[in-house]
Amino acid sequence: MLKTIAAGSLRSENVNQVVTLAGWVDRRRDHGNLIFIDLRDSSGITQIVFDQTLDSSMHQSASLLRNEWVIQIIGNVRERPDGTINPELETGDVEVIVSSLNILNESKTPPFYINKEEDSDELLRMKYRYLDLRKPKMQNIVNIRHQAVKFIRDFLTEQGFLEIETPILIKSTPEGARDYLVPSRLYPGKFYSLPQSPQQLKQLLMSAGFEKYFQIARCFRDEDPRADRQPEFTQLDLEMSFVESDDILSLIEKLYYDLVKSITPNKKIRFPFPRIPYKQAIEKYGTDKPDLRFGIEMSTVVEWADKTDINILKTIISNNGTVKSLSAPGCGNYTRGQISELEELVKNCGGKGLMWIAISDQAHSIEKLTIEDIKSPVSKVLKLHEIQEIASILSSKPGDLILIVAGQEKIVNQSLGLIRDHLGTILGLKDPNSFEFAFIIDFPLFEWKEEEKRWDAAHHPFTMPIKEHLDIISSDPSKVIAHCYDLVCNGLECGSGSIRIHSRELQEEVFGVLGYSKDEVASRFDQLLTAFEYGTPPHGGIATGIERLVMLLAGTDNIRDVVAFPKTQSFIDPLFDAPDHVPDEQLDELHIKVNHIET
Ligand code: ASP
Repeated sequence: MLKTIAAGSLRSENVNQVVTLAGWVDRRRDHGNLIFIDLRDSSGITQIVFDQTLDSSMHQSASLLRNEWVIQIIGNVRERPDGTINPELETGDVEVIVSSLNILNESKTPPFYINKEEDSDELLRMKYRYLDLRKPKMQNIVNIRHQAVKFIRDFLTEQGFLEIETPILIKSTPEGARDYLVPSRLYPGKFYSLPQSPQQLKQLLMSAGFEKYFQIARCFRDEDPRADRQPEFTQLDLEMSFVESDDILSLIEKLYYDLVKSITPNKKIRFPFPRIPYKQAIEKYGTDKPDLRFGIEMSTVVEWADKTDINILKTIISNNGTVKSLSAPGCGNYTRGQISELEELVKNCGGKGLMWIAISDQAHSIEKLTIEDIKSPVSKVLKLHEIQEIASILSSKPGDLILIVAGQEKIVNQSLGLIRDHLGTILGLKDPNSFEFAFIIDFPLFEWKEEEKRWDAAHHPFTMPIKEHLDIISSDPSKVIAHCYDLVCNGLECGSGSIRIHSRELQEEVFGVLGYSKDEVASRFDQLLTAFEYGTPPHGGIATGIERLVMLLAGTDNIRDVVAFPKTQSFIDPLFDAPDHVPDEQLDELHIKVNHIET
């Protein structure tokens, strides 16, 4: 090794030792006779000192050092003189008096600061990712990711799981996205697909008799770019034989709880994780990934609305619409401008508008409300007892703002869900130090795709329906509930899984509802269906996102922060400049002709 000790590990105990350090110049301060350098390596920073009175030619060399030069030094560790102790640094009690300097490499001036947290352009950061990753914040995140994955590996190994790799060059396995294709040179016109997940493979491993499998698996999905997506990502992929939903949920709950406690012991995390049926999540929070760090639950108020004289609500109800409401705590004094901001959220979801009732904070109580306590565009139409009634449904208090949205169920849930989330943010209710995990359970098996007029798998086609619904799969798909669960935390989906179908007949029936042709089933799923005929045991599993987990642990909402070499928001790699054109000869070898070239 070119060093005898890591820079970040020097402490008072090392005083009077002669050490060799190697690392980067993080910062240089020239005080005439003395030059101070913060020497950084991956373990941290130590101050080293060049003293002109001890060695003037070395002092002269030190004056040439610039940020990010790579150096090796030999020196003596000493206690820092009084008044110069730096409590911000772990090594702040000591410094190293240099007796020998060896410049290992020089550096141009980096395009952004490495020793300062500043908002440099993300594209630039990604083009020079190797410099960006030198920043302590990024080193820390990469470290957290390593710790999290190691924890998972150790935990599951302890529980008797085997880590098994599955192929990357494979055939399409559907998770609802497009496949990335890899052309075959040896078989003209044929392609491999990169796995959207190892779903079928892990099921085949259950058939192969491995009762507890996991993998830190790379997945590839050619979806439209979105800020919080990457075209390739990593999952903890897990499958078990002879299990019921509860076995998987209890295992994941323990794994996540222990992991969070071990890596971020100061964060708050509830145990056990609540299990919320999908229907209830939609009813209360308008979404299947609720942020449970705060209350503000919504209620359906169709019966209430139907009894009032507000005609627009009645019309919506008679056209099969719904009316939902929530109470925004302490927002009764909102200005028209603030309310319009909320209304904008409804309009962005395709909703018509937002009805509101503001209750003055001067009101004595909801029971003793007077009409003077109320401000609302519908205050003339609503009777006082009707306002009291909705206020009591929502458990509103004086000073609250009641918000009502009416229309198609999907739009109402979406828009009121967004309002709830927005209120959580602006009212400061999202405690960054708290992890509110929950499992959403009892999802529907199918969802109706209106544009395509067909049923789609709500999760993926391999999900087992509940026993009670086995005989209505084909006759009444809308009603079928699945053995399917999502792990959510603080408004984010962190993973999902299910108990799987393990019989050919049932799997074929589900494929039938999904409208897959016989040929399609034969070409894409024959391997799985055949395996089902050879004693595949009952099984189930889950996959949880590693990036999401690390984002939570590291407290960042930028997915690119938790990937060493990420793609941009538009799925470009600015470091390698990928994707890129390839030479014609390479295309010829692959039997490919490109007929549309964008430069
Ligand atoms: N394969 C699924 C996914 O990637 C997870 C699972 O069902 O285990 O979402």
